[in-house]
Amino acid sequence: MLGGSCACGAVAFELHGPLRPVFGCHCTTCRKTSGHFWAATAVASEGLILRHEEALGWFRSSVTSERGFCRSCGSSLFYRVDGAAQISVAAGALDGDTGLHTAMHIFTADMGDYYGLEDGVSRCSGGVSPDVLALGEGS
Ligand SMILES: [Zn+2]
Ligand SMILES: [Zn+2]
Repeated sequence: MLGGSCACGAVAFELHGPLRPVFGCHCTTCRKTSGHFWAATAVASEGLILRHEEALGWFRSSVTSERGFCRSCGSSLFYRVDGAAQISVAAGALDGDTGLHTAMHIFTADMGDYYGLEDGVSRCSGGVSPDVLALGEGS
């Protein structure tokens, strides 16, 4: 089990069950909402247990998806696609060592010109199919 929270603690949560490796998304919306790029693991929807959620707000960022954030401190925390069985969780919101690694960077065609990416991590200039982003069996 991993715990996490926003910067002010008004939103706190636990993640239970297998976690997806971290994906970095460099699309324009992720850059705007995160302030840099969005790095997230993912967990089955029922594996996200909210411990404090009074300040949790949701922003509809596309026709089919929304993003969860803290209305008090503004931290970007969650991303979910309508009807999906999993939810993405900001890797930076997790407490302590995660045991996770970054598996891929996506939408790199939209990345900023002020940073680079580490070698040895695969990249995709655009999006990838949902099954690539899905939680693998027992992963
Ligand atoms: Zn907060
Ligand atoms: Zn994105």
